[in-house]
Amino acid sequence: MTDCLFCRIVARQTPADIEYEDDSVLAFRDIYPKAPVHVLIVPKRHISSLAEVQPGDTDVMGRCILAARAIGEAKGFAEKGYRLSVNTGPEGGQVVYHVHFHFTAGRQRGPGAG
Ligand code: AMP
Ligand code: ZN
Repeated sequence: MTDCLFCRIVARQTPADIEYEDDSVLAFRDIYPKAPVHVLIVPKRHISSLAEVQPGDTDVMGRCILAARAIGEAKGFAEKGYRLSVNTGPEGGQVVYHVHFHFTAGRQRGPGAG
């Protein structure tokens, strides 16, 4: 059994509220939401961090962005907008070392808001 939390969620060994799935991407609700809608989008294949992304990973990383678009449309945020962010490394606030996009929506954000 892997010690990566998000690999365990992908393998359905740890429960999560799944929001989207395709062959290479899984998205599930963040357990401690920081916005009214907070979904994590992950490649099913383990990539530890944006700092480790390789040229061979461009397809799956692009598919994560297409998943964000699908989630935005499904939840009614295509026009209103949403935010995608990737925390990277210790000073980037990354806690789980399986690369993931935070999809957050449902509140006003000013320009440059963190
Ligand atoms: P990061 O700081 O970018 O590594 O984000 C990790 C995110 O994973 C945080 O927003 C956590 O709330 C979230 N998280 C931690 N454990 C779980 C879990 N079991 N299911 C869903 N989200 C989780
Ligand atoms: Zn993993």
